[in-house]
Amino acid sequence: MKKLLTFSFVVLGMIACKPSEATHDASADPAFDKFKANFIEEFWKVYPGWANSVGYHKFDSILVVPDNASRDRELQFVKTYLDSLGKFRLDDLSSNNKTDYHLIENQLKSTEWGINKLKSWQWDPSAYNVGDAFALLLTERYAPLDKRLHSFGIKLKNVPAYYEAAKKNIDKPTIVHTDLAIDQNKGLSEIFESMLRDSLKNSKLPEAEKTQILADAKTAENAINGYVTWLQNLRPSLKEGGTARSFRLGKELYAEKFAYDLQSGYTPDEIYQKALKRKDELHTEMAKIATQLWPQYFGSHPMPTDKITLIKKVIDTLSATHATRETFQQSIEKQLPELIKFIRDKNLLYIDPKKPLVVRKTPDYMAGVSVASINSPGPYDKNANTYYNVGSLVQYNDQQAESFLREYNKYTLQIIDIHEAIPGHYTQLVYSNQSPSLIKSIFGNGNMVEGWAVYTERMMLEEGYGNNDPAMWLMYYKWHLRSVCNTILDYSIHNLNMTEDQALDLMMREGFQQEAEARGKWKRATLSQVQLCCYFTGFSEIYDFREELKKKMGKDFNLKAFHEKFLSYGSAPVKYIRELMLEDMEKGKK
Ligand code: ZN
Ligand code: ZN
Repeated sequence: MKKLLTFSFVVLGMIACKPSEATHDASADPAFDKFKANFIEEFWKVYPGWANSVGYHKFDSILVVPDNASRDRELQFVKTYLDSLGKFRLDDLSSNNKTDYHLIENQLKSTEWGINKLKSWQWDPSAYNVGDAFALLLTERYAPLDKRLHSFGIKLKNVPAYYEAAKKNIDKPTIVHTDLAIDQNKGLSEIFESMLRDSLKNSKLPEAEKTQILADAKTAENAINGYVTWLQNLRPSLKEGGTARSFRLGKELYAEKFAYDLQSGYTPDEIYQKALKRKDELHTEMAKIATQLWPQYFGSHPMPTDKITLIKKVIDTLSATHATRETFQQSIEKQLPELIKFIRDKNLLYIDPKKPLVVRKTPDYMAGVSVASINSPGPYDKNANTYYNVGSLVQYNDQQAESFLREYNKYTLQIIDIHEAIPGHYTQLVYSNQSPSLIKSIFGNGNMVEGWAVYTERMMLEEGYGNNDPAMWLMYYKWHLRSVCNTILDYSIHNLNMTEDQALDLMMREGFQQEAEARGKWKRATLSQVQLCCYFTGFSEIYDFREELKKKMGKDFNLKAFHEKFLSYGSAPVKYIRELMLEDMEKGKK
């Protein structure tokens, strides 16, 4: 901390010496870069668990006890760095540093808000879970096994104090987060039993240390089980509206969390209204296409008069065209070169041929999470491969596999490839790595990242991908409707007391989703807040900005140039990218 204070003083001195009519200060960027490096190093000291998860392993043996002292340390950290940040003038900084400035400021302010106002450390018992902190040390092979086990052993010592602090913190928890905490903490024994024993077997640590680790692991397990029992005893007394807090965040906290987490140019009310309107527009469009497709699939059978029934029937029919268990991964793989070719032919954006994407089966330890996902190298491991994980269907019986394959049919599979890979998440990542910023890799804006992927789905179809096949458009609309419904759902649950039945009706009837998917989503929406909004919010911001520029620039607008310029700012909030792009345009005119 001492070093930091000296540094702040230097910065202060520098600014004080400036003439009052200061123009751009050339020394600001180097000073800010130094500030960032120092900030990140200190940040990892405060959040060693987070550091561990992004591949920074200096503080692996530290388990922070979540007590008052640790929260005070966080608040002190926030204060110190907000002060230092305030010594810089945004106007003096490069675009890259301007957006980094915003991200750091948002991170610090949201931390303070979380501790003092949201207070989920009191009402969310599932926040207390040492699973990742220990599992990563056994599964990630970044260092020799003995070194990792040694850290594991030191870290174990704090587990009892960790759960004691957790019990002290908890006050009027929600029922859903209490149940989740019980389930998840119950699942941790595997790490301290079989996983640990297997690792110890292969280790060359002295026998005495191994014995000590096993004994401390037993103590840790007892602490975890003690926490589970404590929650189980608390559980019967919890009544929503009385001794338990509602899982619904309520208007004020929701709006604040929305602002911190999404950093959007829209308010929650604005995006909710937009989503409602979009849902109606989509239904109208979908009914039009379904009417057009009807004779092709149903001949002269009478067409349902109800719009929703009609759409559902056509979607069900189209879903029957799908891959098999055996061809599933292959059909994803063979799509990628086709997407690249389409993007080149249509001149939509530059794709760097030197950054290949490796398609692989989702590894077992991450299986069951999603159908497809991008596994990008962490900020401290930039040269590692980027993987496109494709879900394997081994865990499904025939009936489940059929339902899965129908959901991820010929049409939706292409949209997933666009979203996850090209030109969605993977392409965005390649671009963001070109303006390297550790800050953006760590605090990157999820709203922009998801928004971009959702935006590209639409953009590709607009440019003629899929030959304007009405079936493709219908299935795309169904897919897009999911993002729209996520927003309506999240907002309505936390602001408008939407019930589970209403939520299921929205998703299954109006959103054409399967029941299992809809029930899973309801659960997710009661456990999280705001996150489900980012797909449609980010999409709307990017799409609206593009349309705004089109109008402004008229015939000078170029889609390729727009995409490349937009992505060049890295994973920054769209509202700041918009600001910087508009500024650059003004400068270009002069
Ligand atoms: Zn089938
Ligand atoms: Zn995504």
